[in-house]
Amino acid sequence: MTVTKRSAMYETKAWGVEAQPDFINMCVEIDTQLTPLQLLEALQAIEQQTGRQKSYKWGPRKIDLDILFYGGLVIDEERLKIPHPYAHLRRFVLEPLAEIAPEFVHPTLGNTILWLLNRL
Ligand code: ATP
Ligand code: CA
Ligand code: CA
Repeated sequence: MTVTKRSAMYETKAWGVEAQPDFINMCVEIDTQLTPLQLLEALQAIEQQTGRQKSYKWGPRKIDLDILFYGGLVIDEERLKIPHPYAHLRRFVLEPLAEIAPEFVHPTLGNTILWLLNRL
């Protein structure tokens, strides 16, 4: 995969489980020939290589690589949900995303990233 755009890094308060250190979040846009499932496996391999340990749900971790969108594709499987089901509810996602893809239209909601961010 080739990284074609990258946002700045944002230091944010933890979301979901708040009693833990701040997180650093960023969004990147990539070009890839990998299928969505192959991409998920590649990202999980990077997480493993980086030394991600099992933590509790939404707990601290060294790295977390999520697929937010894959073009306009919609997938709803246990292993892989695209768009990411919480993307439109998380400022820590929408803020960096709006830097690199403000006019991208959410495939199921039909709103732009900028609109979703301003609505939060
Ligand atoms: P959240 O999904 O709320 O951000 P999380 O990233 O902390 O939570 P993980 O423990 O990293 O959750 O991942 C749990 C499982 O989610 C993964 O094993 C993966 O199969 C699945 N998953 C479903 N959709 C996606 C997606 N779009 N990107 C990454 N993983 C996904
Ligand atoms: Ca995540
Ligand atoms: Ca994840």
